[in-house]
Amino acid sequence: MANIGWIGLGNMGRPMTKNLIAAGHTVKGFDVVPAAVEAAAADGVQAAGSIAEAVAGADFVFSMLPKGEHARSVYFDAGGVFDSASTDTLLVDDSTIDVDTARALHAGARERGFRFIDGPVSGGVGGAQAGTLTFMLGGADADVEAVRPVVEAMAGNIFHAGGDGAGQAAKIVNNMQLAISLQGVVEGAVLAQRFGLDPKVFFDIAKVSSGDSWPLRNWYPVPGVVDISPAEREFTAGFSTMLMHKDVGLALAGAESEGLDLPAASLVHEKLQKLIDEGWGDRDTSVLIRNIDENAKG
Ligand code: NAD
Repeated sequence: MANIGWIGLGNMGRPMTKNLIAAGHTVKGFDVVPAAVEAAAADGVQAAGSIAEAVAGADFVFSMLPKGEHARSVYFDAGGVFDSASTDTLLVDDSTIDVDTARALHAGARERGFRFIDGPVSGGVGGAQAGTLTFMLGGADADVEAVRPVVEAMAGNIFHAGGDGAGQAAKIVNNMQLAISLQGVVEGAVLAQRFGLDPKVFFDIAKVSSGDSWPLRNWYPVPGVVDISPAEREFTAGFSTMLMHKDVGLALAGAESEGLDLPAASLVHEKLQKLIDEGWGDRDTSVLIRNIDENAKG
């Protein structure tokens, strides 16, 4: 069993550490918000008062932070992971961040003699609680194999996506595609209703036809069609509009660095921003239907 240092005990980090502890690992955790550390301590995490304390003696350090700027600070700042950890420690950043920052973290780690993996996850808070997250790991083969037994306690699927930044690239492109296909589903759901189709009848047809998609089957944005859809609970919980906006923004920033114009992604990004401006940022991203039909009810 491993000694693990964990930085960032928020909505995802806390349940992920709980699964590591259930699998028999020892976890020392730090968060800038003391209440987050206290809450995790109730699940068996050893409370650390600093990054240095969390990473001392760790075989592996994981971080689960909001954005690239937080990850840069946690690794590069004085008193951060690079300053405090032993170079024997394998470092894994599970946050969803931009590819350029992920590559900078790999380079910074390598310069200092560390092994580093970018390892974003898919599956949301539910997947974190259930230990069924999909991990997309970017880094060297040997490092991915070394961390695999630990990641298994938190994962349903583990993919080695490729080299430096490949995990983030896979995650960002996946979520961008999800946002674009969701936009198709919300437009289709409203038009089908305006044509007088029963939503459930249209759903049953599309599900086995060429209009099928993951958001159609999981997030159909009209109540009474899909039990697990956020539309059944006023678009609460699920995957927030704010997080989707962040991820599509990361895809667009990456596309710009690559000299690519992605018109559908740009349009969905604008539509997500409009919802955030109107106060819907914490609702599930299928609330996108409100841009088409402002009377749409979850
Ligand atoms: P969160 O905001 O709930 O948690 C992040 C935690 O990091 C917070 O507790 C914050 O206090 C802490 N933090 C920030 N700066 C810190 C620092 N310098 N040192 C120590 N702790 C610091 O966010 P979350 O929902 O747990 O998401 C974390 C990451 O996972 C994000 O990048 C998100 O995009 C990604 N993600 C989230 C979900 C989801 O459904 N919530 C799903 C997949 C991926």
